[in-house]
Amino acid sequence: MFPAKIAEFIDRNLPATEYYLNEEMKKHTTFKTGGPADILILPYTISDLQKLMHFLVQAQIPYIIIGHGSNLLVGDKGVREPVIKLEKNLSNCAVAGEVIEAEAGALIMDVAKLAQKQALTGLEFACGIPGTVGGAVFMNAGAYGGEIKDVLEEVLVLTTGGNLQTRTVSELNLGYRTSVIQKNGDLIVKAKFRLQKGDQAAIQNRMNELTRKREANQPLNFPSAGSIFKRPAGHYTGQLIQEASLKGYKIGGAQVSDKHAGFIVNTGNATSSDIINLIRHIQAEVKKRFHVQLETEVRMIGEF
Ligand SMILES: Cc1cc2nc3c(=O)[nH]c(=O)nc-3n(C[C@H](O)[C@H](O)[C@H](O)COP(=O)(O)OP(=O)(O)OC[C@H]3O[C@@H](n4cnc5c(N)ncnc54)[C@H](O)[C@@H]3O)c2cc1C
Repeated sequence: MFPAKIAEFIDRNLPATEYYLNEEMKKHTTFKTGGPADILILPYTISDLQKLMHFLVQAQIPYIIIGHGSNLLVGDKGVREPVIKLEKNLSNCAVAGEVIEAEAGALIMDVAKLAQKQALTGLEFACGIPGTVGGAVFMNAGAYGGEIKDVLEEVLVLTTGGNLQTRTVSELNLGYRTSVIQKNGDLIVKAKFRLQKGDQAAIQNRMNELTRKREANQPLNFPSAGSIFKRPAGHYTGQLIQEASLKGYKIGGAQVSDKHAGFIVNTGNATSSDIINLIRHIQAEVKKRFHVQLETEVRMIGEF
């Protein structure tokens, strides 16, 4: 959507901000699928991001924000809206007492490591989640009994009107893999996590234990987007899929993991269409056998 106009604006006003035309999104998703984005932009600073957003808002150009692409399925025909990727440049973190403030593009697992170094406890659960701070807040990411909601104090957002505003955790309505940001279109710029003083060795031990659990149970040697579906109330997704005899089931290069049936993996040459067809097949089979509607956790963008 107007990539030349956007590129011209960046060339003139934001010299340190990189952008790429016709950028293959498979390079920016952990599924390693997805067609070309007309333009992918890596804002260099928060000020650059703010100027870019002002320009897009004024020009009425809709945009898409991504972090690490670890919860994304991008259509094979690519993305017409400008894609703004926050990982890489916007990743500064600062510690003050028991509070860590992190820019949205920092990896949440790096924030968890920083917390451990500072003997701060609370973020151990996030040590194996491969997304950014922005993506983790947007999804209220969680694992092994912990979730972002437990440790988040506030976020700085850029509103759809282009203004910077602070939102407290209670204003974000964080629930199981949901946040108000999924509805209001705010862009998360920074997050403040309030942790507690703990024992450095005990924090490291807990992180090691969770890493071992992940390695034992999840197909980490294949590209994926983690759990493909949300957990339906009263059920375990992996168990439903396994009991529907779909473990190992394949469409094209997409396969229900034979290690963990809640994951779809790219066995090497999957397209996003293979993955979406497999998602639909699983949903239909589970509905037919158990009358349970599986809802995707992975977010879809672009043209399929
Ligand atoms: C191997 C593996 C294991 C995983 N394990 C877990 C797990 O244990 N628990 C868990 O919860 N998830 C898990 N995930 C999924 C994923 O890592 C999380 O959902 C993560 O929080 C997504 O962050 P991201 O930066 O990759 O977001 P992306 O995938 O880039 O984006 C996800 C959504 O967030 C939005 N978004 C991203 N950044 C911003 C921002 N700054 N402002 C506004 N919106 C934004 C995007 O528009 C998109 O809709 C796993 C994934 C993989 C591949």
